[in-house]
Amino acid sequence: PPPDLAVRAPAALLGGQAGGARLFANIDTLADLDALDPASVAGIGLVRTEFLLAEAAEALDEERHLAAYRRIVERMDGRPVTLRMLDLGGDKALPGLVAGDPGSVLGARGVRFLLAHPDLARLQARALIRAAALGPVSVLLPMVTLPQELSAMAALFDEEAARLARQGVPGRRPPLGIMVEVPAAALTLDLFAEAAFFSVGTNDLVQYLAAAARDNPAVAHLHAGAEAAMFRLLDTIATAARAAGRPVSVCGDLAGDPAAVGRLVALGLRELSLAPSRLGAVRAALQGLTGGAPG
Ligand code: PEP
Ligand code: MG
Repeated sequence: PPPDLAVRAPAALLGGQAGGARLFANIDTLADLDALDPASVAGIGLVRTEFLLAEAAEALDEERHLAAYRRIVERMDGRPVTLRMLDLGGDKALPGLVAGDPGSVLGARGVRFLLAHPDLARLQARALIRAAALGPVSVLLPMVTLPQELSAMAALFDEEAARLARQGVPGRRPPLGIMVEVPAAALTLDLFAEAAFFSVGTNDLVQYLAAAARDNPAVAHLHAGAEAAMFRLLDTIATAARAAGRPVSVCGDLAGDPAAVGRLVALGLRELSLAPSRLGAVRAALQGLTGGAPG
């Protein structure tokens, strides 16, 4: 590149800017957090709390939720942090609390599980509300299918925020967004007026779109095979989010695929949240698209 660009490019990486996109990290464990240079990203786009609180003793203890969230918020030092509520059920177990059942990806997982276990949902909501008083925290709901699921969880957050306020506990009701990973939700984003933001979970979205389980090698080829369907749906999602004036990010594995990110950005999906191990390759791919120019 011309000398001026060579000098300016590193500055363009500050805050996770790369080739017209903003890069965020997905965090599954506190070890992931410790290994991440906070200055290399715009923030945390997805914390999978079901892995962060990987034992029943932790998941059932509000203070342990809060301690983990506090560590993340403090380390990110003012950068936005999106914490996803427990995504349990389906293939995701939590020993001592929920048995994994690979055959039940169409069952009571994600927000469905939480709404069926309101004591657990309220406990996590309280920890999230308290964490939101510490920094710019948003909350993601996993596996949302219907607007009523978001409304029910929003009401639960309002109630717990009011309860904490009565008790004199510092808190802030965080904005709630939804994972876009069930086709029925992906096709009806305009109905989710209560969603503050959207985050596309391409891992689940492709498994439900292609009717091919994400952990079954015998049908894995159908995920790549369904690419045309996937990108049409992503276009629909990007258009609907723009029309609704809501931020939309992509946090599934597609956002960490250097071969795919150019097309995501071209659709207007410019906020990408990916595993820290993928940041380098994705950044290089995005800069290659723009000849290394910042932006
Ligand atoms: C997804 O489904 O793409 C996603 C980001 O969530 P998870 O992989 O945790 O299901
Ligand atoms: Mg998912």
